[in-house]
This record gives sequence, structure tokens and C-alpha cells, in this order.
Amino acid sequence: MTLQKSNKKNNEILIFDTNIFLMGVDFNLLEGIIYTTDNIIEEVKVERYLNKNRNIINRIQAAIDSGKLKVRTPLKTYVSKIDKSSKITGDYNALSNPDKELIDLALELKFTRNKNILVYTNDYSMQNVCSEMQIPFSPLIRKGIKSKILWEVYCPHCEDIHNVEELNKPCEKCGLKLKRRPKK
Ligand SMILES: [Zn+2]
Repeated sequence: MTLQKSNKKNNEILIFDTNIFLMGVDFNLLEGIIYTTDNIIEEVKVERYLNKNRNIINRIQAAIDSGKLKVRTPLKTYVSKIDKSSKITGDYNALSNPDKELIDLALELKFTRNKNILVYTNDYSMQNVCSEMQIPFSPLIRKGIKSKILWEVYCPHCEDIHNVEELNKPCEKCGLKLKRRPKK
């Protein structure tokens, strides 16, 4: 049982985009080995002047030291395929060189390792191109922030804000049924 579980652990390769590192994920909570490129790490370091990111840089270094995080420069084998796919999806101009390199690394690992790969990125262009190239991907959303919606009740005609208990009741000024929308 334990052995099976550890085998499964070793069979995951996670590929991290810059925006995932900047979320300050605790790497040890994730199963598998994390891969990224030099240029992605450089992009994270560019942001290090932000106080909150010093911790992230330290965490990255600790993960590299422990072998949990591996930094590789890909061989650029798939660059022309990536260009072609991103032109099909219309994301060609939205992808930076580090973005393309990360996809190159993902493809390299997909075809050279007998493991499941998963690209973590919150970037829509990256997600599109991964989808087009049949590379498994996932966004990483902080639970409790994006999933929580605060509603406000308003009159579609008068634009007045009402108490939430008044939802679906008629507006006292114009008689229209009150609606709700996510609070900004
Ligand atoms: Zn009204």
C-alpha cells in the first residue's frame, strides 16, 4: 500500500509557470517532482524587490537543494511546433520566450520520461496552447478567494442598491423586479 503510493508520487512531473511560483505555493504539499526553466526562475527573481517575494525565492532555493524542484534549460526541439500551434489558437503574440521555453520543456519531459506530466499555469494563452498541443495543464486558484462571490441586489432601471433581502421584489420607485450581481 505504502509502496504503491510512493510509486505514484514518483510518477508525477509538475511543470511550473512564473505565476504559480508567485502564488507562494508550499512545494511540499504537492506530490511529484516540480520542473521549471532558468528563465522562469529569472522572471520570479525580477519580482524579488517586492517584500513578499523574498520568502518565495528562499523557498525555491530550498526546494532546489532538496531535489523537489529541478531547473532545466530545454533543448528547443519543439519551437517550430509551438509557433505553429500558437498561431492556430491566436496566442502567438501573447507568448513570451520563457513561455515558449516552458512548453518546450513540457513536451521534452512528456516524450522522454515515462511519467505523467502536468503544466501548472494561470495564463490563458499558455492554457490555450497546451490544450492545442495536448499537454495536460491546470490553473492553480487560491481557494476561498476566487470561489467566494459577494452579491449585491440592485434595480436594473434605477441602478439603486437595495438590501439583499429584497431580491426579486419590485423596486419601490419603478416597479421592476430587483436583480443581483457580484459585488465589485
Ligand atoms: Zn427601480
